[in-house]
Amino acid sequence: MVIHDTVAGRGVPITYLFTNDLSSRPLLGWFRSLSSIGLNPQRFTIDRSLPEDNAIIQVWPSCSIQHCIWHVMRVWMQNLQSKVHGSIGRTPAQAKAHIRPHLKALMYEKNRERFYNLLNTFITEFSHSQPEFITYFKTYYVDMWDGKACERWNVSYQPEVFHAMQTNNYVESWHNQLKSCYLKRKRMHRLDVLVEVLVEEVAFDIKQEVSRLSVNVGRMGALERRFRVNEIKAEKEKSLPSPSTIIRLLDEEYLVESFANNTNNTAYNVKAQNSQIISCTCPYFQQHLFPCKHMFYIELHDPSVTVRPQINTQHTWGESSSTTATTIQQEQQPQNGPKQQLSDAINKLASKTRDLKRRIDRTMINNNNEENSIALLQQINNMTANVTDLSSNLDNILSLPPNTNFDTQ
Ligand SMILES: [Zn+2]
Repeated sequence: MVIHDTVAGRGVPITYLFTNDLSSRPLLGWFRSLSSIGLNPQRFTIDRSLPEDNAIIQVWPSCSIQHCIWHVMRVWMQNLQSKVHGSIGRTPAQAKAHIRPHLKALMYEKNRERFYNLLNTFITEFSHSQPEFITYFKTYYVDMWDGKACERWNVSYQPEVFHAMQTNNYVESWHNQLKSCYLKRKRMHRLDVLVEVLVEEVAFDIKQEVSRLSVNVGRMGALERRFRVNEIKAEKEKSLPSPSTIIRLLDEEYLVESFANNTNNTAYNVKAQNSQIISCTCPYFQQHLFPCKHMFYIELHDPSVTVRPQINTQHTWGESSSTTATTIQQEQQPQNGPKQQLSDAINKLASKTRDLKRRIDRTMINNNNEENSIALLQQINNMTANVTDLSSNLDNILSLPPNTNFDTQ
């Protein structure tokens, strides 16, 4: 499963399922376990796959699902070939050529009202001359999923923030990266090797990238550029002679007057949670699920809340699961206690050694460096001995939790 990570500004894999069973059963188990740790996705883009669609609806009934429109269009064109026949005044080829632009117009109509008008006209116009194709089209692309089938392929249901995902581009580019960088284009792989690559190397690289971008080291990420666009709009508004007014409704809830040209007295409700501004009721935010100018406007007036993800909470835009997961983890142990400090220090050590392992795996040793490598070997052996000492010293202060805390197998 790949999400659009707003910090990295690209698609990153968050969870994996290996299966050779193509039914919805393994998917259901996978989704239920993700749901139980707090994953609550708002949207999914999938290939046109019925088992996936069914499993998503069962676990997350209110989640909206989009099918990759390239896949949908391809299936339409295949069925057009077999189900559209010659009609009065048209040869089969002419009939097909006549329907094709109608299908494209339907898929790409961005205005919802115009879309439904087009759809009704299309069905009425062709139901007599092309009954086979229209029956197929109505059954699978209009009436299916309790009449919500159109939401899965018409672009008006695919908000701009997900446009890059509408063709599953992120998944494609992630697959390429996995094959060329991590698996080095080898074909045969043992499952345990693949799991090791995914949980060690891939996860390590993504965390490095995200933490580098979070502290704004290196280039300005794609995300930061998008933030700045809306932040600048908020700054402009604030500098006006009579800027938009803000009313604080509750501790973390604000009412913002719509910006310039506010002729009809519109106001939007902006909410924060744990000092993180999380939502606005304006059309921009509702469509893009991305911080709008109103949210930045609140931040300008109330520095106690922020729009950009705070590093310690790692709020990611458009996906709330990771916040939930971190909270759960943190509640189990008091922060900054001795256990936490030890755990942090050991994690740091582990990440440094993982880094060394990755470097040695990916590089070659220059010739004529025998002496140096003997010295390095000695250094590594000393460190390994130190770690063994550390392990026995840890025994002095650590005790196992009571049996009730063990996971049942
Ligand atoms: Zn807004």
